Amino acid sequence: MAASKKDIRALTKEDLRVFFVEQGDKAFRGNQVYEWLWQKSAHTFEDMTNVSKETRQMLEDNFVINHIEVDTMQRSKDGTVKNAVRLHDGLVVESVLIPTATRTTACVSSQVGCSLDCKFCATARLKRMRNLNPDEIYDQVVAIDKESRLYHNRPLSNIVFMGMGEPLMNYNNVMKAIDKITSSEGLGMSAKRITVSTSGVPKMIKKMADDDVKFNLAVSLHSAIDEVRTSIMPFNETFPLIDLKEALEYWYAKTKRKISYEYVVWKGINDTQKDVDALVEFCKHVPSKVNIIEYNPIDDGDFKQATNEALENYIHALEKNRIVVNVRRSRGKDIDAACGQLANKK
Ligand code: SAH
Repeated sequence: MAASKKDIRALTKEDLRVFFVEQGDKAFRGNQVYEWLWQKSAHTFEDMTNVSKETRQMLEDNFVINHIEVDTMQRSKDGTVKNAVRLHDGLVVESVLIPTATRTTACVSSQVGCSLDCKFCATARLKRMRNLNPDEIYDQVVAIDKESRLYHNRPLSNIVFMGMGEPLMNYNNVMKAIDKITSSEGLGMSAKRITVSTSGVPKMIKKMADDDVKFNLAVSLHSAIDEVRTSIMPFNETFPLIDLKEALEYWYAKTKRKISYEYVVWKGINDTQKDVDALVEFCKHVPSKVNIIEYNPIDDGDFKQATNEALENYIHALEKNRIVVNVRRSRGKDIDAACGQLANKK
């Protein structure tokens, strides 16, 4: 029965080489199969045409190849594409392709649902079902790369871990996926074009720094005042700003890479001068830039985009303090593909 067979993509290249030697075959066969599984994204053993029929049958008897299926694909007026991706066990996550004039970015999920409880995020309403495996993260990128080539005549250029889930709560699998994405035996993409976005898990930020990762770090800050942040991101109670600040200093000391802060400004929540001043102060801890993100309403609830005047106030104060600030317009809103809107709604 398929359920009792092992997922062959959970094996490393070395595991596969050893497996073939144990079968009385050559270690090299392991390399061939590995290439089919990753670089060539084979979905069946049948596809592995340079492997003998007997070997393919033997693999079939011992293993399954778990892979994602793009269940539905929606295209926005602005060119954004949203994939609802079905996993081997029937669960669904979403990933998004975001084209601009110069780049195409894949926004990928790291967990089914999310264990955090940010009040403004639609994904938080889905409880965390499970972590994604490395191959499930990798496959989302492969699917978006294909769509980028098909619809925009160019390969994928950037990846952001800003889809469903908290990547640092699925650390090992996210790291393994990034290893495959950046490896010449996978997609061969540069780690410099990858950004991992976290709501801020201090211990894991330090671990990333220790692990000498080469990708970029974004932190969903949204407030630099503890009481305010805790009211909209309750886990801030456990990981207060002082711990976050310390972890970010550690990150910068080790990596010398600037941090991006994601920041939404809401009416009546974080739109006062006090909020602005706190952000400016927080930005002074380590070299950083601020991305002000437009709020994407997830229902008619408590959160409302602040006025342009409030935004201007932030921009002015940050610029005055020589902190780089970008304002990010939402993409793919008409298909519920924008930040915080991923909730398997279809
Ligand atoms: N858990 C990770 C990655 C997923 S969220 C993190 O927190 O960073 C990706 C980004 O979308 C985060 O910056 C998040 O704060 C933001 N976001 C969530 N809900 C949003 C909404 N409704 N409108 C705009 N941005 C939102």
